[in-house]
Amino acid sequence: MTGLDTDIRNIKGIGDTRARLLKKLGIVTLRDLVSYFPRAYEDRSSFRPIDTLRPDDVACVRALVVSTPRLSHIRKGLDLVKLRISDDSGSLDVTFFNQAYVKDSLKYGSSYVFYGKIGGTLNRPEMTNPVFEPEGKSEITGRIMPVYRLTANIGQNLFARTVRSGLDELRGIIPDVLPAPVREKHSLAHADFAYHNIHFPADMDSLMLARRRLIFEELFVLACSLRLLKGRRTEKNGTVPKDADIGEFYSSLSFSPTGAQRRVVEQIIADMLSGKPMSRLIQGDVGSGKTLCAAAAAWYVYRSGYQTAFMAPTEILAQQHFETLTKMLSPLGITVGLLTGSMSAKQKREIKNSLVSGDVDVLVGTHALLTSGVEFKHLALVIVDEQHRFGVNQRSLLTGKGENPHVLVMSATPIPRTLALIIYGELDISIIDEMPPGRQSVDTFGVDEKMRARIIKFTRKLISEGRQAYYVCPMVEENEALDLKAAEQYYLHLKNDVFPDLRVALLHGKMKNAEKEAVMKAFAAGETDILVATTVIEVGVDVPNASLMVIENAERFGLSQLHQLRGRVGRGEHKSYCILFCENGSENPRISIMCKTNDGFKISEEDLRLRGPGDFFGSRQHGLPEMKIADLSADMNLLTEAQDAAFELLGHDPGLSKPENELLRQRIDELFELNAFTFN
Ligand code: ADP
Ligand code: MG
Repeated sequence: MTGLDTDIRNIKGIGDTRARLLKKLGIVTLRDLVSYFPRAYEDRSSFRPIDTLRPDDVACVRALVVSTPRLSHIRKGLDLVKLRISDDSGSLDVTFFNQAYVKDSLKYGSSYVFYGKIGGTLNRPEMTNPVFEPEGKSEITGRIMPVYRLTANIGQNLFARTVRSGLDELRGIIPDVLPAPVREKHSLAHADFAYHNIHFPADMDSLMLARRRLIFEELFVLACSLRLLKGRRTEKNGTVPKDADIGEFYSSLSFSPTGAQRRVVEQIIADMLSGKPMSRLIQGDVGSGKTLCAAAAAWYVYRSGYQTAFMAPTEILAQQHFETLTKMLSPLGITVGLLTGSMSAKQKREIKNSLVSGDVDVLVGTHALLTSGVEFKHLALVIVDEQHRFGVNQRSLLTGKGENPHVLVMSATPIPRTLALIIYGELDISIIDEMPPGRQSVDTFGVDEKMRARIIKFTRKLISEGRQAYYVCPMVEENEALDLKAAEQYYLHLKNDVFPDLRVALLHGKMKNAEKEAVMKAFAAGETDILVATTVIEVGVDVPNASLMVIENAERFGLSQLHQLRGRVGRGEHKSYCILFCENGSENPRISIMCKTNDGFKISEEDLRLRGPGDFFGSRQHGLPEMKIADLSADMNLLTEAQDAAFELLGHDPGLSKPENELLRQRIDELFELNAFTFN
């Protein structure tokens, strides 16, 4: 029986050759074929009388062939077919280049519809290489045509025809994953209508209806999936630590936690005491003090004799977290360990042993934590920093090392709340919306080359006062080799020509880990004045004495990236500055936003607005399945609507076990399977 899962080779007219071409586009089944949505449309629906046509008009003409098509062979590689067509209002010359077959497909005395662009002159308009078909056929003229994203080996017409035969096979049997009440409540078209009209819309209104329905469907299925994921997780039992007085932990600190930090820690503790595994995201701008919340959670489970795993995206960050946590936790009797890929086999073995025996209470590390030899005695809490760099799958590898451990994800990428709700749909969200006291905003300036001498002088002044500075290298392009070369030259220039009397060091992503670590250590210890760096310092690095951030070619960095970089300064008691070198100084819209605000949420909203749809989140970054038609950042209203609908439906039928929701459940199961999209 034919259905969405039918292999396209079973469709009439699709042979092995075409199947191979389609496979290159990722199309194997009928579902793949009809879900290969057009990237644009060409409106061929306007018909015009010949005497109204002017050069450059694009239109359909319904006309009679009034001269026998003539083929002339001009020279090798150039054949022309010429004919004249005519309607009630006038006549028009038509020329085809190198399409000799046209001579026999257009018959003298028959009516066709021609679609194309008008050339020639006002007095003597003509049409060149139009598409055409017999009047009344309306397959490629007189309608809105899809335009697909294709590779060189397959043309638009052939592809459109293939989709059409796929749709014909499926006519009336495309199952609708949206339950009827959802469709009705949200005024959504049927699946059958939507799939036909997204490819071959009857008119613009139908196209809009089809689009709306398909975007809604995609977001709705995603929202349901994430919600179910959360549900599956909360069906399980979480480890319940002994109740403890968090004030004990707070009083060991050299500062007092902010109200926001206390609130988040309360939420974490409530989660862990609930009997269900926690899955919570802490969102807080750079410098808001997420680490403290993580440490509080680790302390809490330690009080019951349980272990914590803390995963960071880079070695530098793992190293820093290790140091911070050791400082905070070891006075309280907690043993913190470090495991990274660059450690020696012996070191790794030792740390693994003390992990199994329970001698290490908190293990900080990179992806190395995910490897199979890493076993805990009793892992109760998993903390993941900067989660957008890890996929959902990686998180599940880590949680697999305990029995439904509590999961705490920390993200410094502020994103608009609506978006966070879906991207982190399977997590509860805590927001740290308050900075530690005394935190000053970083004064930010967009400058051009004319200011260079003054900036150099300013750098010297700050350093003479005992501060340190970051200089972020110019970016050449997204080309590692070239960027590395530029970084090295830039470093040598600063070290030898500009600041020969100061201590200048270089940090870049291609350095060996031990080297990176040594450079960072020296900078943190104040043994270096200027750290020249590529964007490896973007995430998390914490040196409170650094008070100047200079970024070259700032116009080449994304807004969020600039914000992250700027977050490296203003972390201590010293007034801090961020200098953005760029061609037009502060006239560049992104640079001017940076100068106006330090608020990460505002910046992310502007980023979204400036970058436009599609670019904000690659699906790789957030670990969600790839969207075929919806745009998580552009279709915000539908997203909220789809999410509300999902919650409502799951409220009535939490396991999607009612017969009317059967198709939806199947679709979600497939999605889970396809993406190995499991949490635990
Ligand atoms: P992030 O949220 O970017 O991870 P961190 O946890 O690294 O922020 O904290 C940034 C800096 O602020 C650290 O140096 C930390 O010691 C300090 N800090 C955190 N909370 C407080 C607080 N309540 N009062 C004062 N300083 C704090
Ligand atoms: Mg941090």
